[in-house]
Amino acid sequence: MMKSVRVVVVGAGVIGFSTAVCISEALPFCAVTLMADKFSPDTTSDGAAGILFAAQFPDIPLQRQRRWFKDSFDHLLAIAQSQCAPEAGVMLSSGWQIFKEIPAVETPFWSEFVIGFRPMTDVELKRFPDHKFGQAFTTLKCECSTYLPWLEKRFRKAGGQVEQRKVNSLQELSNSFDIIVNCSGLGSKILVGDTQVYPVRGQVLKVEAPWVQHFIRDGDGKTYIYPGIRSVTIGGTRQEGDWRLQVDGGDTKGILERCSRLEPSLNKAKILSEWVGLRPSRKNPRVEREVVQLQGRSVPVVHNYGHGGWGVTLAWGTALDTLGLVKQTLHEMAPQAKL
Ligand code: FAD
Repeated sequence: MMKSVRVVVVGAGVIGFSTAVCISEALPFCAVTLMADKFSPDTTSDGAAGILFAAQFPDIPLQRQRRWFKDSFDHLLAIAQSQCAPEAGVMLSSGWQIFKEIPAVETPFWSEFVIGFRPMTDVELKRFPDHKFGQAFTTLKCECSTYLPWLEKRFRKAGGQVEQRKVNSLQELSNSFDIIVNCSGLGSKILVGDTQVYPVRGQVLKVEAPWVQHFIRDGDGKTYIYPGIRSVTIGGTRQEGDWRLQVDGGDTKGILERCSRLEPSLNKAKILSEWVGLRPSRKNPRVEREVVQLQGRSVPVVHNYGHGGWGVTLAWGTALDTLGLVKQTLHEMAPQAKL
């Protein structure tokens, strides 16, 4: 097939690859190139626990956030229930979110999309004496160090091209591409000069504890235990505006203490690795399009970044929205695009 429209996706994290797959599979007449300076295993996405879960963003219509969550959940659930599950790194995960004080919202907006959501019983809560309230449910865990290479294969199969390159400005791309899709996460601070993007530092440990089979998350988002396919991810920290990528010994100690209080057997677990990532945070993620003047040309730019601590959860849903924005752009470009 003649590929008549050249699209570049900047970013090789879970947002970039999800978006690139959605565009290349839905629009076979587009020649899609994914460009990034860092690829798996060196992106933020690679170290994320990858549990599907979300907080509510203040200024995005709730209907849209619900759709992002549901589209992502359904997409990953289908993978978890297929024979692709191990090679894609996606699994079902059951457990508890617990609260020291009864939360303002007892039933979050995503509760109907996860499986079997219900308040915890007194018997279940008994082992958490510092906590008054809890939610039990089954969600998904998507391990990006496995999922990203799987998405890359899927992208290449759909005809996508991959290029390792740092993009210093969008102008560099304006002559070679008709549409620019920006999925550069924290990189958007410089690449598109967005002063609203900031890091929220997160440190986690991977430990060997195959006997731990349920996730436990404190509702404050700072302490969590997420069993995965080969190890258990325990965390964490949420340090706003902190750019340090080095492991902090004090954080490690704090994580081990807090997690062992919830799951005492973790005192017996062997530490396999320690990792720090910077969540690409923003008051609201930016999933929108604009037209930018680059070297005298009007170039459509579609943005999809700023997912903070929920990028794995919202990746497929926001990728589908981004695909919709690319389609709108193509309609406006017609007749050159010959849709
Ligand atoms: P990234 O993975 O950072 O990818 C950005 C890409 O853009 C990279 O490829 C980078 O090289 C490229 N790039 C940037 N600038 C340029 C440039 N100028 N030129 C070329 N390429 C560029 N989310 C969940 O949903 N569930 C969780 O359980 C979860 N746990 C987490 C735990 C921790 C400790 C941390 C730190 C994060 C966690 N997250 C979780 C959040 C999740 O990791 C992020 O929301 C997600 O990874 C963001 O994906 P991204 O693709 O936008 O960014």
